[in-house]
Amino acid sequence: MGCRIHLLAGVGFDSNVYLIEDEKIALIDAGTGRLHDALMENVRERGVDPEDIELLINTHCHYDHTGGDHKLSEATGCRVLIHELEQRVLEEGDNVLSCAVLFGERLRPVRVHRALRENDLIELGALALRVLHTPGHTAGSICLHDPDRGVLFTGDTVFTDGVGRTDLPTGSASELVASLKRLNQLKVRELYPGHGPPNDRDPRRSLRSALDFLLTQHTIE
Ligand SMILES: [Zn+2]
Ligand SMILES: [Zn+2]
Repeated sequence: MGCRIHLLAGVGFDSNVYLIEDEKIALIDAGTGRLHDALMENVRERGVDPEDIELLINTHCHYDHTGGDHKLSEATGCRVLIHELEQRVLEEGDNVLSCAVLFGERLRPVRVHRALRENDLIELGALALRVLHTPGHTAGSICLHDPDRGVLFTGDTVFTDGVGRTDLPTGSASELVASLKRLNQLKVRELYPGHGPPNDRDPRRSLRSALDFLLTQHTIE
């Protein structure tokens, strides 16, 4: 059985949500939760029963990606995963580190079932996602990579046309440079960012130009 990756595109401030249909069904990121009912409907329209969603993998702790975790885990019984450095943010509902305050919202605490670390493997079936710890946008930001298929989920680390901001709590431009250098070494055919359209034509261009942009910024500073 192959796998299918559906983009449930973010509306407004909401992050993209990716629905992965494989032997296991997983979501990557949850959006703010503001559009929870529409998201569930969207999942059903893809022929997936929300109750079959096993995993919700968060790329990082920001509210636009995790605000929906609470409702999703209640509605579907899915397990919640995030990098170990940001587990506490979700479990305590930290409104500052999650940036919920910037959205004028509060993060509802949610239990984390699995704290992720560098090089962990999340096996979904045809797709096996390797956890890459890529700090810079936040300290616990991760990317998820399947080297065989060349699939890379990047959260807010890098977009098809742009790079993550580093001026929010725990952000670091120098760490983001190091993370992007690392991502530029990977085999990538399809790039799935946390906002905006995916890039399955020339993802190396996205990775290259994001790094070039950051390096230019650093020279100017
Ligand atoms: Zn975001
Ligand atoms: Zn973010």
